[in-house]
Amino acid sequence: MTDRGCRHEEAVMQALRSGQWSPELRAHLAHCESCAEIEQVSGLMGKVAETWTATDAAPDARVIWLKAQLAEEQRRQRRALRGVILGQAAIKSVPAVALALLILWIWPTVEALTTRWLGWIQKVLFEPAFRMIERPLAGDAWPVLVLASLALAVVFLRGYGRRVFR
Ligand SMILES: [Zn+2]
Repeated sequence: MTDRGCRHEEAVMQALRSGQWSPELRAHLAHCESCAEIEQVSGLMGKVAETWTATDAAPDARVIWLKAQLAEEQRRQRRALRGVILGQAAIKSVPAVALALLILWIWPTVEALTTRWLGWIQKVLFEPAFRMIERPLAGDAWPVLVLASLALAVVFLRGYGRRVFR
């Protein structure tokens, strides 16, 4: 290591502070390791101080840059989110669209089947029902109807007479 006890150290530090170097002190600095080390450390301290000053000056620019980055990131996320929402809407509408296309595609078949089913329902259910309703009013059902009406009238009149003539 260096011999720390150089008698010129004080003068070197004085010169570093003031910036005024005598030719003798400059010459000594070139040969004395201890004083050269002091000068070097002083230079480093000066650079650190410069860096700090630069860092102190930087925040404005850095904050602006970070804000710009943040805004860009938010814009990017909003765009991505919009894409996701549109994508989800598209995915959700797929079954509905597929169903609509399927219905359009099979509609002629459905229509034909519906017509056939309605025809079948009419033939199998309604026509027999109508025939059953129509039958007693037609032809040989009349006597039955008349007899039934007479029977009902007799039963009613007997009940009525019993109550009145007692
Ligand atoms: Zn020295």
